Amino acid sequence: ERPETGLRIRGLTARYGPVLALDEVDLTAPRGQITAVLGANGAGKTTLLRVVSGLLRPSGGEVLLGSRNLTDSAAEDVARAGVAQVPEGRGVITELTVEENLRLGALLGATRSRAAGDGTPAAPPVPVSDLPDVFALFPSLERRRRQSAHSLSGGERQMLVLGRALLSAPEVLLLDEPSLGLAPKVVARIFAVLRELVDAGGLAVLLVEQNARSALSIADTGVVLNLGRVVACSDASALAADDELRHAYLGF
Ligand code: ATP
Repeated sequence: ERPETGLRIRGLTARYGPVLALDEVDLTAPRGQITAVLGANGAGKTTLLRVVSGLLRPSGGEVLLGSRNLTDSAAEDVARAGVAQVPEGRGVITELTVEENLRLGALLGATRSRAAGDGTPAAPPVPVSDLPDVFALFPSLERRRRQSAHSLSGGERQMLVLGRALLSAPEVLLLDEPSLGLAPKVVARIFAVLRELVDAGGLAVLLVEQNARSALSIADTGVVLNLGRVVACSDASALAADDELRHAYLGF
């Protein structure tokens, strides 16, 4: 792993008043890998994503993307730097059509490629640059492209937010519970697409999941949080095989 690639989090601490939600968290989400962040309710997973995406200011530590320090950047600057949030499916804009939702992602993608013209990344980290690329990954979105996003199922909404994020030409994808409330078949499709994109080389994925079993089945590395601290960080298959850890923190 080249140290300058991907997302690096160092000594990250975050509070809500007296509540210490993250306590000196260290983790790395390298390019070309899926890093799963696991842990029970209240472990600090959502807080971690909020800090990384610039929505919550940390009280200590650093968030680095390559050689860029994003620690105190505003959310829009973090997005422009190439860190894309994939919110739960309810992040679709229901007043717009499927195609219009995707064009919003493409808009940011176009800005980012122009910005890259005077410097940083050479090739786009994901091979998704226009709507047909998204439709090739998720054919059901193409069939519904002119429909209001309001008419989509939960699974299609999750595919749409993922497609929109991919069109922003991200270097890092942050996913918050993408399996929540979805049918196993849909989850399998979404995870397969993530795996395919990551294996293509340039993308780093940070996957927050309560569903530890399926997350570990596609992740390269797992990081287990408990009460805001990293209690384990290891190969995904090693974590899945650790009975004690599974029973104590992962619920399976
Ligand atoms: P969940 O899966 O339930 O969202 P999580 O692992 O994402 O859990 P966080 O939501 O990050 O955990 O919460 C971490 C800690 O911070 C918990 O103790 C939680 O009660 C607390 N917390 C979260 N949001 C707030 C807030 N807005 N104000 C005060 N405390 C909060």
